[in-house]
Amino acid sequence: LSVKEWTAQVIKQDEIDRYLKNGRDFIDEEEIKSLLQNNRKSDKTRVRDILAKSLAIERLGPEETAVLLNVRDDDLWEEMYETGLKVKQKVYDNRIVFFAPLYCSNYCVNSCLYCGFRAENSHEKRRRLTMEEVKQETEVMVTEGHKRMMIVYGEHPLSDVNYMCDTIRAAYEVKKPAPRGTGFGQIRRINVNAAPMSIADLHKLWEVGIGTYQVFQETYHKPSYASLHPAGTLKGNYRWRLYALHRAMDAGIDDVAMGALFGLYDWRFEVMGLLQHTIDLENHFGIGPHTISFPRMTPASGSDFSANSSYLVDDSSFKKLVTVLRLAVPYTGLIVTAREAPGIKKEVIKVGCTQTDASTRIGIGGYTETLKALQEREDYPYEQDQDIQQFTLGETRRLDAVMREFAEMGMISSFCTAGYRCGRTGDKIMGLLKSCKEGKFCKLNAVLTFREYLDDFASPATKKVGEKVIAKEMEEIRNEPFFKKGTLLATFEEMLRRTEAGERDVYI
Ligand code: SAM
Ligand code: SF4
Repeated sequence: LSVKEWTAQVIKQDEIDRYLKNGRDFIDEEEIKSLLQNNRKSDKTRVRDILAKSLAIERLGPEETAVLLNVRDDDLWEEMYETGLKVKQKVYDNRIVFFAPLYCSNYCVNSCLYCGFRAENSHEKRRRLTMEEVKQETEVMVTEGHKRMMIVYGEHPLSDVNYMCDTIRAAYEVKKPAPRGTGFGQIRRINVNAAPMSIADLHKLWEVGIGTYQVFQETYHKPSYASLHPAGTLKGNYRWRLYALHRAMDAGIDDVAMGALFGLYDWRFEVMGLLQHTIDLENHFGIGPHTISFPRMTPASGSDFSANSSYLVDDSSFKKLVTVLRLAVPYTGLIVTAREAPGIKKEVIKVGCTQTDASTRIGIGGYTETLKALQEREDYPYEQDQDIQQFTLGETRRLDAVMREFAEMGMISSFCTAGYRCGRTGDKIMGLLKSCKEGKFCKLNAVLTFREYLDDFASPATKKVGEKVIAKEMEEIRNEPFFKKGTLLATFEEMLRRTEAGERDVYI
């Protein structure tokens, strides 16, 4: 098919209409604006009551969220940051899950004003990885120690669902001996960030064995959406995108991930939009998103939009919006990406983020070109090339350095992929998360995967501080009543012994 013919057959109107209520979608701009307007003055008692609800791991309603977004008192914000951390610890403990993105193709039929991949950007050097190149990129990623991949594509017939499935299969096939120890590097879970698709195409992704399907709405504010995504382009259809995750659920993918690109419109409005989206998924399917992302717009090749937007979010507001999301949807994972520089990343991890990426390369072929050289020569200078990547990174350090920093903060890095492979996904994982039980399994799997990393990939400095983290985790596990009941503790200790002896991919 030509690009034009292909584009003409992507959107299926009936796969939008089936989710509408009386012909309307769930984003109610008037309601969001009036909730934000009418909850400007709440006293401390009201705010603290809402924090108590978050601490009980209950999702907040739109009005409660609007109250939190309107807090002006700095002391109260301090209480909210502290509560954010408590909520995170209750559900997710002190874990941070690592992944790395793999950009496969930067061909795109769309014209999003803020993105380096947009069709009109003549500076962008277009490239689509071959299957051999996908494998090479994956080899570099797994040699870093990565186990979880987020695979990313521009929207184009050259990267249609069949290409996606081929690349996913190719990446799953890679198995490389680890640089240290006796283990091997392998991707165990591939999540997908790709344009909205039909239910039939999404089902193909499910069949090839993906974890989470992720689509960012970019902005929930319809007039802004229309001006940033020209009409007539695929992405110009707001509702096709708004119901992408609903279709994914109907296609059988029960872990879906949402996000908004912060910097396009008012951040308080976007948080309310993410919440309405969460609620609509709950109404239709009984569960909300597996994760929420909040990428901040960064400079992109050939685009001056990011410098000129009047809605750019400063660090202080960014920390606030992450905190409110943590409090509003306590059981959902929150992802902070390598768009963020190390300092602010640490700040938002403290108020509730649960996942991040490291060693990240977002140029097409970027791992092979730069990270491989780094693996061979520590002092290799890494310069970002905007003309092959979608935007600019704030965090370019390697996984080992970031993990070491987190270990020094007392956090354990996890590469756990057990939930998905043990069938703890969708409503099953949500139930476990809400009752704070999933965190317990994750704690055990975090230790097993951290152990593997320390033995197979870690530098001596990271190993040294990592051993202290494992010792502390083991002490907590051995003293935790939940593990002492039944045979769970004994089973886990046996699994850890097998991992120490060199067995790999042992999970509970
Ligand atoms: N083309 C697909 C789509 O639009 O859904 C795949 C996603 S795109 C490759 C990944 C995400 O990057 C977008 O959804 C957008 O939120 C984000 N992004 C685009 N331009 C950006 C920029 N200048 N700074 C930060 N993030 C950006
Ligand atoms: Fe294409 Fe996605 Fe970039 Fe828009 S955000 S131009 S759809 S790659």
